[in-house]
Amino acid sequence: MQSQLARTALRAAAQRPAALVVARPFSSSAAALLATPQTGPTDLGRAPRHADTVRKARHQYEVNSPAQQYGAPGTPSALDKAASLFFFTEIVRGMTVVLEQFFRPPYTIMYPFEKGPVSSRFRGEHALRRYASGEERCIACKLCEAICPAQAITIESEAREDGARRTTRYDIDMTKCIYCGYCQEACPVDAIVESHNTEYSTETREELLYNKEKLLANGDRMEAELAAALQSEHPYR
Ligand code: SF4
Ligand code: SF4
Repeated sequence: MQSQLARTALRAAAQRPAALVVARPFSSSAAALLATPQTGPTDLGRAPRHADTVRKARHQYEVNSPAQQYGAPGTPSALDKAASLFFFTEIVRGMTVVLEQFFRPPYTIMYPFEKGPVSSRFRGEHALRRYASGEERCIACKLCEAICPAQAITIESEAREDGARRTTRYDIDMTKCIYCGYCQEACPVDAIVESHNTEYSTETREELLYNKEKLLANGDRMEAELAAALQSEHPYR
């Protein structure tokens, strides 16, 4: 079959002065490419494909040629290949990799008993922070609400008796949040922050609609960790 195709290709090449004449045996697909009609617009009216066909056949022949496989510099000789087969060097190399991995410390950890390192810039569950006095940091400027691209934050506010403005409502729809961190970046008093906590999956959607109490509780619980992360990032903000 292959020799038939080769003969056909050589006949076609002989009829075409510009065609590639190949003296060596070559693959059936290369022969088939050479045996395709020289010119002739296709039924879809495309341009003649003779030049493209010759280019493809030439490339395929060059890739498969014995000179490329054995003679070119940097490629293994036939003797090298025979020695490699005789001494099972591939198997030895493979077993070396297996042994190396066997004595290495494992890459896996026993989650949730062990946890991997988390960047100080990691953006996880949100929290609202307080000052050391217990006063809420948030001054209801609504910058976080304005900048949130997912429109996940809803804030309502009013002035207190002492004249300070504070939120009466601070909701985050965690199902909308894309954890971009813009709210944290926009906040002038480091009130809204994203913690390193990732373990807050819930069974219902409603549990992911965070209100102010939930956010303040998160902040109270993780204040030490949040303050340390903000402190470490302070030079870069
Ligand atoms: S992290 Fe981004 S999407 Fe989520 S509440 Fe903040 S600003 Fe909105
Ligand atoms: S959390 Fe920060 S940015 Fe958002 S309203 Fe409060 S003070 Fe303003």
